[in-house]
Amino acid sequence: MKYLIPVIAFLVCLQSSRAQSPVSDTGTGVTVYLTFDDGPVKTSWHLVDLIRADSLPVTVFLVGRYVFSSSTGMSIFRYYRDNPVVEIANHSYSHARNKYKKYYAKPGQVVSDILKNEDSLHLREKIVRLPGRNTWRINGRQRTDLTDTRLAADSLMKLGYRIFGWDAEWRYDTASQSYLTARQLISVMDFLVRHHCSFTPGHIVILCHDTMLGDEWARQQMGLFITEIRARNWKMKTLRDYPGCRDSQPDLLETLRVNNFFLPKFLLQHL
Ligand SMILES: [Zn+2]
Repeated sequence: MKYLIPVIAFLVCLQSSRAQSPVSDTGTGVTVYLTFDDGPVKTSWHLVDLIRADSLPVTVFLVGRYVFSSSTGMSIFRYYRDNPVVEIANHSYSHARNKYKKYYAKPGQVVSDILKNEDSLHLREKIVRLPGRNTWRINGRQRTDLTDTRLAADSLMKLGYRIFGWDAEWRYDTASQSYLTARQLISVMDFLVRHHCSFTPGHIVILCHDTMLGDEWARQQMGLFITEIRARNWKMKTLRDYPGCRDSQPDLLETLRVNNFFLPKFLLQHL
C-alpha cells in the first residue's frame, strides 16, 4: 500500500504523455469533476442523499439497461433528471454486458449502443464514457488507453460526442480490501496538479462508482474529500464546463452515414 499512490500517479502520467498537446490552464486554480459510473443501482440512493444534502455538482454516467430493469432504477433516474445540479451522461445502454473485448471488436455496434442509450434516456448532452475503457476524445484532443476502442471512439467523435476517461480513480484496493482514503486520493490529485499530467492541466476528472457508496466507511471518506476540496477553494463542476467540451462539432457526412441517409454521389462530393 505504501507504494500504491506514487505508482498510480506515475501510470497516469505515462498515459498523459501520449496525449496530444494539452489546453493550457487558465491559472484560476484547480477544477474537480466528480463522476459516478455504472448507475443507477440500489447504492445510488446514497449518491442521491449526498446531492440532496450538499447540492453537489456531479456527472452520472448512466447505463440504460439498469434504468429500465427495476422501479428503483427508474426512480433514481427521474430524480437525476429533475435535479439541475446533476448532469446525466452516456455510459452505453448495455455496458458491453461486461465483455469488453467482444464489444469493441464490433465498433458499429458500440456506436449503436451509445445512440440507443441517448435515445432511450432522452439525453441532451453528447457526453460519453466508454464502458471499461479510459479513452478520451475532446475537441480534437485524444488519448486511447487500449487501442480496441479507437474505431468506435473516432466514429463517436465525428458524430459530435465528447468522450471522457478519467485522471484519477477512487479505487478499491484488493490488497488492503478497502477504498483509497480521501487523503490518498488527494495525494494523487496533488501529484497530477504539480506535474501537469492530467488530461487538461488544472482540471481533474475523478472516477467513482455508485457501488462504492454502499460502504459506510467510504461514504465518510467522500465527506472528508468534499470538505478538503472546498477548504482549498478548488472549484467543482460538471463535465459540460470542461475545457473544449462545448466546442466539439459533429461531422455532417458521418452523421448522414450513421443515420443511413443515402445521397447521390455528386452531392456527397460537394458536402
Ligand atoms: Zn462502467
